[in-house]
Amino acid sequence: MDRVRTRFAPSPTGFLHIGGMRTALFSFLFARNNNGDFILRIEDTDRSRIVEGALDDIMDSLRWAGIIWDEGPDIGGPYSPYMQSERKTIYQEHAQQLVESGKAYRCYCTPERLKQLRTEHGRQGYDRYCRNLSDDEKQSRDEARDTHVIRLKIPLNDETAFRDEIRGEIVTKNEDIDDFVLLKSDGFPTYHLANVVDDHLMQINYVIRGDEWISSTPKHVLLYNAFEWTHPKFAHVPVILAKEGGKLSKRHGATMVREFINRGYLSDAFINFIALLGWSLDDKSEFFEMHELIKHFDLNKVNKASSVFSYEKLDWFNGMYIRKKSIEQLYELILPYLIKGGFIAKEDPDQDKDYILEIIPLIQERLKYLGDIENHVWFFFDKHFEVRQTDALIPKKLSKNDAVRILEETARAIEGLKVFSEEDIENCLRGLVESIGFKAGQVFMTIRVAITGSSVSPGLFETIRVLGKNRVQSRINHALSLLKSEQTS
Ligand code: GLU
Repeated sequence: MDRVRTRFAPSPTGFLHIGGMRTALFSFLFARNNNGDFILRIEDTDRSRIVEGALDDIMDSLRWAGIIWDEGPDIGGPYSPYMQSERKTIYQEHAQQLVESGKAYRCYCTPERLKQLRTEHGRQGYDRYCRNLSDDEKQSRDEARDTHVIRLKIPLNDETAFRDEIRGEIVTKNEDIDDFVLLKSDGFPTYHLANVVDDHLMQINYVIRGDEWISSTPKHVLLYNAFEWTHPKFAHVPVILAKEGGKLSKRHGATMVREFINRGYLSDAFINFIALLGWSLDDKSEFFEMHELIKHFDLNKVNKASSVFSYEKLDWFNGMYIRKKSIEQLYELILPYLIKGGFIAKEDPDQDKDYILEIIPLIQERLKYLGDIENHVWFFFDKHFEVRQTDALIPKKLSKNDAVRILEETARAIEGLKVFSEEDIENCLRGLVESIGFKAGQVFMTIRVAITGSSVSPGLFETIRVLGKNRVQSRINHALSLLKSEQTS
């Protein structure tokens, strides 16, 4: 068998979408699984739709995910260039070649006529008028240098069949296929021409792409036939739906890979999750690192049915991967977010390293994505600390005086602690609960709110240990002053 060559061929008309990344991932996995090549080709011939920054975003997002190409616009390769806008003459020559072999023709119909046809015939499209021009007429039009496009002459009274690797046999009647445009009047190719010419010249033998292109494939097959080329194998991957139904779109939440990168999703978790949108090894295995995906990926295991994108499931995966990181790895990962949140200074990022290494085990379990770090660590940093829930300092069924008493006794008990270990702190506070006569939940709630600012926090005793005696004492004093002032009821 020939060496497998696949490609991802995005148009830089927007930032990379989850669906685009899934298509790229499947093409990449298939190539790697077969020890083949994965090519990145940029389809940028529709100049009016190009979005600034999209090309960089696509390449950066793929690299972030570990989807690395062997040939592409930035690194070149044996079939350079890989930007279609730099290959214009190649397409023009190929269109011309088809006109000469009688497989395509020049069409001089004006946009007004085409518009009229569309209104009269609905979606039927072009009436193939210029296909039957007499030689004289063609000659006089050419001499007059009338603007024209080049259209493919669809062989009528026939049908076009191809086998989709995922969906099986697909047959289309040729009479339902328009004599579609190959080359536009400005000399730029259409998607169909450029795509087919490049896939052929770049020796792509597996075209793996989104389902939305399946209706174009019979046209492509006809174009391959016109050139007398063998067409590659095709695999159209099913669409990604939102949980609420309908195609996943902005109104459901983030859809661009960039948004997930910025929020601090881990690339290995993201890739694991994306791979399962339409592919599975069996009904039970869920965790796959990239090398395992490469090992197991098989087009036969890609579903025909559409897959459903669940943000909750992604968060769950991400949480699981965050928990798999070592403390040191997680430290490196959260550092940029701590800097961004103003918790540590950019100029001296490791200033609180020891303290942060102590904090991490306390929050690792609860962190969903790295950008969420702020909500978990703010109270560890004096500069950001405040009692956010002053009312919660007084537990249900107790009075302000009771809360004052709890805190005063806590301060005394903590002061007396010789060893500031979690065990000693726990023993000391449990002893305090007994002597004071309130319920543990009530006592611990007041202490928790006083030292962490809110009623939700990691384990109380470990948090006290990490905060350290001085910080705990000064927070208790602060809470006491709040209670004694008019701020609490
Ligand atoms: N340029 C097309 C896109 O943006 C490529 C489709 C294909 O893979 O053939 O998705």
